[in-house]
Amino acid sequence: MEHNCITRSFYSLGTMNYIKICNCDDEAIMGQAITRVLAIDDLMSAYKGGSDVSRINSNSGKGFINIHPDTMKVLSRSLDFSRISYGAFDITIRPLVELWGIGKKSGFIPSDEEINKIRMLVNYKNVLLDQNNCRVSLELPGQAIDLGGIAKGFAADEVKRILLENHIKSALINLGGNIITIGNRPDGIPWQIGIQNPVKATGTHIGILNSSCKTIVTSGSNERFFVKDGVRYHHILDPHTGKPANTKFLSVTAVSGCSMDADALTTAVFILGKDFAYENEGGYTGKRWLNLAKKLDAEVIIISSDAEIIITDGLKDNFKVRS
Ligand code: ADP
Ligand code: MG
Repeated sequence: MEHNCITRSFYSLGTMNYIKICNCDDEAIMGQAITRVLAIDDLMSAYKGGSDVSRINSNSGKGFINIHPDTMKVLSRSLDFSRISYGAFDITIRPLVELWGIGKKSGFIPSDEEINKIRMLVNYKNVLLDQNNCRVSLELPGQAIDLGGIAKGFAADEVKRILLENHIKSALINLGGNIITIGNRPDGIPWQIGIQNPVKATGTHIGILNSSCKTIVTSGSNERFFVKDGVRYHHILDPHTGKPANTKFLSVTAVSGCSMDADALTTAVFILGKDFAYENEGGYTGKRWLNLAKKLDAEVIIISSDAEIIITDGLKDNFKVRS
């Protein structure tokens, strides 16, 4: 049997994206999905002058400004994540992202003095949301937000919504590693999603997940990083230290129902690390990352630097590690 599929690759949200819609020849549906992603980038990019994020950042310390309801939704969920992740996920990370030159100057390590100065600007509690009037204020001058750890997930959920509204029964969405599968492949077999081995060349998989109707999101230190004096400097920053998260985790994959949540979750779990607890929060003994995943009804696959692979119970039958 012939299966009609439409596929598109396109650049947006600072990354390459891919959408495949199966058993469908209506280009307009694909157009609608891509237009939606581009519109989200226009609102949430930290680099585009007129975006909500840029407007919020240039207005820091100057009171409330109006934003689009989509941006409000992502901001509101971001703050929820800050609260439930002990501050590990924090969108006010932007001044540190800039200091470290993430995505720009590779190999630069700021001094502790610079880091500590800038770190004072990082505090999600200074993001004030006026939900009723769809307004936001960043309290301190110099503060800035970055939705790079969550916006791709929101966009992926939106593409899924559009495809389902258009009665698509089989599709694969991949927005820069935020994957959503709809139904099964056209041949009836679940979609096969390879999980990257974080220490091998791109495309080398540590295992394969079968997926129908789930989101699969990975955060890893292998995407954007450099190594200096044996230390891996990457793009996921720990707000408490102002430095790339010093964790045993090399990559964190979440499998769940909501891609926005899975996106923020993987970034947060990556920072929380395997046995990590901050000393000034005495009394904590459990694994924070696992509590967080449970709270969000997500299954996780974690690959740690000591070559350990942690797989939560719900995935044990589905995910097979390749030897
Ligand atoms: P990727 O964008 O590679 O898929 P993530 O989803 O983990 O990876 O997001 C990393 C991005 O999130 C960084 O490039 C930066 O823009 C932003 N970020 C870095 N540290 C944090 C943090 N502690 N909290 C929220 N966002 C962060
Ligand atoms: Mg993320």
